[in-house]
Amino acid sequence: MPKPVTIADVQVILTQPGKSRQAIVKVTTSEPGLYGLGCATFTQRIFAVAAAIERHLKPFLLGRDVDRIEEIWNMSMVHGYWRNGPVLNNAISGVDQALWDIKGKRAGMPVYDLLGGKSRGAAHVYVHADGDSKEEVADNVRAYMEAGFRYVRIQLGGYGGKGSPMSKPKNAPPGAYFDPRDYARRTLEMIEHVRGQVGDQIELLHDIHERLAPIQAVQFAKDVEPFKLFFLEDALAPEDIAWFRMIRAQSATPLAMGELFNNPHEWQLLIQERLIDFIRMHISQMGGITPARNVAIFADMYGVRTAWHGPSDTSPVGHAANLQLDLWHPNFGIQEWYRPSELDYAIFPGLPVVEDGYLYPNDKPGLGIDIDEELAAKYPPADIIEDWTQTRLPDGSPARP
Ligand code: MG
Repeated sequence: MPKPVTIADVQVILTQPGKSRQAIVKVTTSEPGLYGLGCATFTQRIFAVAAAIERHLKPFLLGRDVDRIEEIWNMSMVHGYWRNGPVLNNAISGVDQALWDIKGKRAGMPVYDLLGGKSRGAAHVYVHADGDSKEEVADNVRAYMEAGFRYVRIQLGGYGGKGSPMSKPKNAPPGAYFDPRDYARRTLEMIEHVRGQVGDQIELLHDIHERLAPIQAVQFAKDVEPFKLFFLEDALAPEDIAWFRMIRAQSATPLAMGELFNNPHEWQLLIQERLIDFIRMHISQMGGITPARNVAIFADMYGVRTAWHGPSDTSPVGHAANLQLDLWHPNFGIQEWYRPSELDYAIFPGLPVVEDGYLYPNDKPGLGIDIDEELAAKYPPADIIEDWTQTRLPDGSPARP
């Protein structure tokens, strides 16, 4: 038996080349020059994830056999006894993705080949069009269409909208205010307008971002049905998922859900009862490639497709991991895509590229992505207190962002 390759070090690299703070895990091995990268980005609590990795996971993992991904994932999950929380899931994901990267490099294969091989050569993506007016949103959609995109998410004034007339109490604290009913009314008008302007040859999506009360979400899914969305995202908060039965019974609007999910209980019921059409976890938030692979296979048995979470608060390493999954699983639906900056591409060589609405891999072994650590260090994460998640209803009470 050859001597196993073992984990020699687990480093956390924190960087912020754009608006989101990112956590990358680098696992180095007993074999000189062999290392893997993984995404552990929980941007709002990035320093807690770093501490979980450095103080808890790293001492537990040093010296372990890098080939035993399943064992390491399961033991990491139960070793803290309390589990399925966002900080620890992200920490475990950083290591898990890095181990898949290492296994691919050792095998000389991209991760999609380790998973079973390609079902497709590239992944369809959707991009975000926002605007302060319905006319501006329509213009932005047209610009995307001209650039070759065929799937566009449309929002009016950001999540929950903005600029609604509202009368707040005179002692209302500062915050990101929105009015759910006004948001729903104006968004329906916007979607009708955009569909009328751009026709049927483009797929439109919308993200409610859990901004409506459950019964308002039921109404919205019915009202938006004539405009034939590709999907309606996060119609409900994870705490309200039992309401999906009501939406399903009353509308044929395709539903996507899952970016906030941490715990298998949250996705099991929705898939088994066929209450949604697209499952879309944040891969690092659920614990990495290992659990995502399991969910993709599980969802396939129930006709549910994937749409993994992929905005700018997924790191480039996380986007590379998303793409490996997208290329492999037969039940791929769509991939959310941000538009990386030149700096993102400079810090992360191998970050996938979009051409004509498709995301392409570079077919290198492992995840196919690397990091320029010196350049990343020039953009350290800022000490900020997030504003956009300090969400309030018109009377000042806290709301889900
Ligand atoms: Mg979303």
